[in-house]
Amino acid sequence: MLFCHLALEFIFVIALNWIHVTVQQVPSTALTPDDYTRGNSLTNAQIHTNRQLHQKKPDVRRSNAPNNRAKRMEGLTTPGEIWPNARVPYELSPAYTLNERAFIARGFSEFERRTCVRFVPKTSADQDYVFIGKIDECFSELGKAGGRQELSLDSGCAIDYPSVIHEAMHALGFLHEHQRNDRDNYVRILWQNIIPANRALDYQKAAQSDPDLQFSNYGEPYDYFSIMHYSRNEDNEIGQNVIEALVPGYTALMGMGSDFTQSDINQINRMYKCPQAG
Ligand SMILES: [Zn+2]
Repeated sequence: MLFCHLALEFIFVIALNWIHVTVQQVPSTALTPDDYTRGNSLTNAQIHTNRQLHQKKPDVRRSNAPNNRAKRMEGLTTPGEIWPNARVPYELSPAYTLNERAFIARGFSEFERRTCVRFVPKTSADQDYVFIGKIDECFSELGKAGGRQELSLDSGCAIDYPSVIHEAMHALGFLHEHQRNDRDNYVRILWQNIIPANRALDYQKAAQSDPDLQFSNYGEPYDYFSIMHYSRNEDNEIGQNVIEALVPGYTALMGMGSDFTQSDINQINRMYKCPQAG
């Protein structure tokens, strides 16, 4: 009898351990303190890599979600599309490696360090949130779309620090720098060289992408080095220029930034009315 009892207890303990180990092995859908530790240990050389998109589809996309997302293109100053209290709930796909999670964590850390924006794990009370996953190339929806919205970090861009903060800025409500309404004073777009599917969402001027768009540059001058500016030949499969700078010598340099510029930070802080905005 005692033997039976001990045997049962033994099996029970083994089972509990197995369940524990199994649970431990499933990566969390939220970044862990260890992810942040790894992210913050990345050196400048590891995070400041050139961001190059080599994909067939635009990286600002409309969602396939059932609710009406046409609205999401309406504006960067529309209060309903800016995350309340600068709080962005997210859910992370378990598909990322520890190294990839470290880059995502470092991106979120830098928003926290330089702005009042906070990416926080989704709770059961959060209806509106960003699902981050390996969905289809790299893209984000623009601003808070309502309900579950998607941000993809997958093949098509490296899952690295510049890609994380670029796509996250789309999710906060920023279009590309070269889509500013005043961009014709600074760059020339070579439409014939752009992959046709990407022309509208990634290159059209903000006001043209939706007549109702309420767009603001938040007082910042055009910034060739913004993390939201494309390089000269993104969206061209054979390396031809799709954007040329009107300032001599800038064509090869623009869009090569690998971190926020001060102008990027200023705009985030003004959009989200952060104390840092002054
Ligand atoms: Zn983009």
